[in-house]
Amino acid sequence: MKLCMIGTGYVGLVSGTCFADIGNQVICVDKDKNKIENLNLGKSPIYEPGLDELIKKNFSAKRLIFTTDLKKAITTSDIIFICVGTPSKKGSSKVDLSFVFKCVKEILRYTKRKKILVTKSTVPVGTGDQIEKILKKKKKLFNVISNPEFLREGEAIRDFRYPDRIVIGSDDTKIFNTMKKLYAPLINKGSKYFTTTRRGAELIKYASNAFLATKITFINEIANLCEKSGVPVEDISLGIGSDSRIGSRFLRAGPPYGGSCFPKDTKGLVHAAEKFNVNLSVVKSVIQSNNNRVTLLINRIHKILGKNIKNKKISFLGVTFKPNTDDMRDSSSLKMIPYLSKKGAKLNYYDPSGPKKEFSKIKNCFFKNNIKETCKNTDLIILLTEWDEFKSIDFKRLFNNKKLKIFDLRNIYNIIDMKRNKIKYYSVGRPDIN
Ligand code: NAD
Repeated sequence: MKLCMIGTGYVGLVSGTCFADIGNQVICVDKDKNKIENLNLGKSPIYEPGLDELIKKNFSAKRLIFTTDLKKAITTSDIIFICVGTPSKKGSSKVDLSFVFKCVKEILRYTKRKKILVTKSTVPVGTGDQIEKILKKKKKLFNVISNPEFLREGEAIRDFRYPDRIVIGSDDTKIFNTMKKLYAPLINKGSKYFTTTRRGAELIKYASNAFLATKITFINEIANLCEKSGVPVEDISLGIGSDSRIGSRFLRAGPPYGGSCFPKDTKGLVHAAEKFNVNLSVVKSVIQSNNNRVTLLINRIHKILGKNIKNKKISFLGVTFKPNTDDMRDSSSLKMIPYLSKKGAKLNYYDPSGPKKEFSKIKNCFFKNNIKETCKNTDLIILLTEWDEFKSIDFKRLFNNKKLKIFDLRNIYNIIDMKRNKIKYYSVGRPDIN
């Protein structure tokens, strides 16, 4: 099939490349000239395991094209996927749909024959109806449908190839067969093909993200109780997660949820519900609890290092919101590092995805090239992101620092090992080793 992906970010680039890999002709368009130039030189703008190789393979096979020429991309395609960002509006919980609507207006300008117009971007319930309003008189030329994306950064290719479900929302049931053909290679490998109304698909995406955010926030609050009551939070996760009605995933205590989706989607869902006069009080309190969590972690840092942290050396291992991605959007490091710098701490950080422009202007904050340099003579190591290379560090051999303190926000180290090595060790929802 001939496909066009508008927006070549995490979703558009990964899904476009994977669609090409299952035999489709795909044009990826972006308004960012630099991004497209780099892609045409074989350089991916994002860090995503396995993506570079897959882009090269499909680019060489001429199934995958990168362009800024929207007109050409639209006129030559049968199915157009909108994959642009849907962030929160500045200072508001409302979803900024301006990128989506701008795309729709451009699509309208260049369309002369029938097309399927798919929103892959996460959009509030009722957005498809608004898109149809923009299309006005040419509405009959389009089937406006919703096909939300569920891939996770860091595991995006696997998630695209083996999704738990493919959700297609349309009020015209004839479209379901066409979309089923497009996704047949994945459905044949066992992925569930689920059809619903357009509004249904739009809401499924928001409800999924809000539910997962709720699970994380729930276990984070339980971890607070575990710390006070002396119960290891992993026992609780295992004990409740073994109940198939609850499920074991997303029950790992740690920092507040972050990333490009959960924070904005929980807020967007609350706002969308208010438009229908519905009060989503559970989601609201999840947002509140998550916002409070950075303060809680900062208080623990003060508990470990004392009230005055001026000139204390603090080393961050990992600053992205999760491993295997370079995405910094809403990572808790964006709040913790500036706070600690303001209090006079001296900060080093290392992240396998490289230095971050977000910290380039932060006082006394430096990127180091490896774990050893980052943690040299440090007062406290903060493990923020659980990249694989941090999982088996031999702290005792590497640092020979008798006063070594570690604050492990992901609970990746073994308490007994830390005790044996006489390392002062603090984690989340588990007893401190002082
Ligand atoms: P992104 O910011 O990485 O990419 C968006 C791209 O769209 C940018 O490259 C931007 O230049 C381009 N763009 C914006 N307006 C354009 C226009 N008019 N014409 C051409 N290009 C344009 O965003 P993302 O992370 O890929 O997210 C896209 C959507 O998918 C969002 O709605 C998001 O919520 C949703 N989503 C994201 C993820 C994820 O893990 N990142 C997962 C599932 C769903």
